[in-house]
Amino acid sequence: MKFQPKASHFIDGEYVEDTAGAPIDVVYPATGEVIARLHSATPAIVDKALAAAKDAQRAWEAMTGTERGRVLRRAADIMRDRNHELSVIETHDTGKPIQETTVADATSGADALEYFGGLAPSLTGEHIPLAGGDFAYTIREALGVCVGIGAWNYPTQIACWKGAPALACGNTMVFKPSETTPLSALKVAEILVEAGAPRGVYNVVQGYGDVGAALVTDPRVAKVSLTGSVPTGRKVYAAAAGGMKHVTMELGGKSPMIVFDDADVENAVSGAILGNFYSSGQVCSNGTRVFVQEGIKEAFLTRLAERLAKARIGDPMDPEVSFGPVVSQGQMEIVKGYIAKAIAEGARLVFGGRQLDRAGFYLEPTVFADVTDDMTIAREEIFGPVMSVLDFASEEEVMARANATEFGLAAGVFTRDLSRAHRVVRGFEAGTCYINTYNLAPVEAPFGGSKMSGIGRENSKLAINHYSELKTVYVSMNDVEAPY
Ligand code: NDP
Repeated sequence: MKFQPKASHFIDGEYVEDTAGAPIDVVYPATGEVIARLHSATPAIVDKALAAAKDAQRAWEAMTGTERGRVLRRAADIMRDRNHELSVIETHDTGKPIQETTVADATSGADALEYFGGLAPSLTGEHIPLAGGDFAYTIREALGVCVGIGAWNYPTQIACWKGAPALACGNTMVFKPSETTPLSALKVAEILVEAGAPRGVYNVVQGYGDVGAALVTDPRVAKVSLTGSVPTGRKVYAAAAGGMKHVTMELGGKSPMIVFDDADVENAVSGAILGNFYSSGQVCSNGTRVFVQEGIKEAFLTRLAERLAKARIGDPMDPEVSFGPVVSQGQMEIVKGYIAKAIAEGARLVFGGRQLDRAGFYLEPTVFADVTDDMTIAREEIFGPVMSVLDFASEEEVMARANATEFGLAAGVFTRDLSRAHRVVRGFEAGTCYINTYNLAPVEAPFGGSKMSGIGRENSKLAINHYSELKTVYVSMNDVEAPY
């Protein structure tokens, strides 16, 4: 098999196999063919990975930030040099068009490695002057062994977004990719070793949810960072709480995008396309509830349909193709279920809606208009190429409706009115907001959700606080006065 890795797991600097684990077939979403067969981690593999990470941690933390940063920056360079090879793997793992994976996956992973590699030497504590010449100082320390658990939509990026800040702070990591997309995290592990990471610093184990659960509850683990759905987040957060572990939760969303009458129609349509159909709609921050003000609705829907007709759907390895399959048969069935429900509940299908008559898991980009707040497609995360267009009349009304969700990952507004734009984002109950754009996630800025969409932030300097803690040291320069 063309994409068969040397073995299923990468532990203590090398590939490791244990065929006693349940088989994991890796399916190319564009054809349905099996391109690799891996095995889920057995308890012995989980133990081996955690032991390796634990053994490696103190020596890794004892290296200077400059040395650790150099390893990460070297890894970033290697990833960029191999971008094509890594993008081909990512496309076969996820089905995302090579046009996308070439610019959004290994490249954004490399950005994270470079950014946190650059920050590593500057991670310090501070000096705090106290009365009488006394003082305190803080030492920024690693947490220890961190577990990363990934979703299937951005496997390379997630492996790096979690690994880079963890390693920069002196932690070691055991990363479990989604069993749907297990290939690229192994490459990240390989590249880190090639870049000089000591054995055991970054380990990858494959597996289903039970492997994730075993990692989360192990007493050797200090922190868990999950990218996944809200139901999984609830379970993982609760399991981590038992051991009082640190957590970062990057979970799902049902984010609003508001288009006011005065918006630039082309830009709003571009934002809606990026926020609903990039990666075949499998992006957590997608603005899947597109509220369009009455005066611009017809123009918006007309241009949207014209632009969607230009999407090139097909073989994701064709560089001209801009829209690929969804990740799996199972996900396709879930999305088809939502499309059927939307029609049954009275939404108006204005574009797409069908499965393509070809091998693989292809759905058309799909738009429903006249969607109301109570419809299932307006309430639940679909994680597929389905956009809901909802009408609104006033700003006050739309803000209340936009926030009437348990999710709070992202939100966007398109308007030419500067004051309104800032007023609206102040009102959004969401962690990541956009004005006249949508779905950017550069490593320099914090990314994450509020409400049920998550805890903590990834990327930016803020991520450092989620992968390290401060030890406070009080120093007396005077005699100690005791009452007796
Ligand atoms: P899931 O929540 O199903 O799974 C996420 C990961 O958790 C997988 O690796 C999964 O393993 C693992 N897992 C499942 N159960 C447990 C458990 N009890 N303990 C520990 N780990 C467990 O999400 P999907 O993979 O289906 O990804 C889609 C979801 O991810 C969407 O809801 C999306 O919104 C969200 N997401 C959020 C992002 C963000 O940054 N906020 C970014 C991308 C996606 P396995 O797959 O083997 O079951």
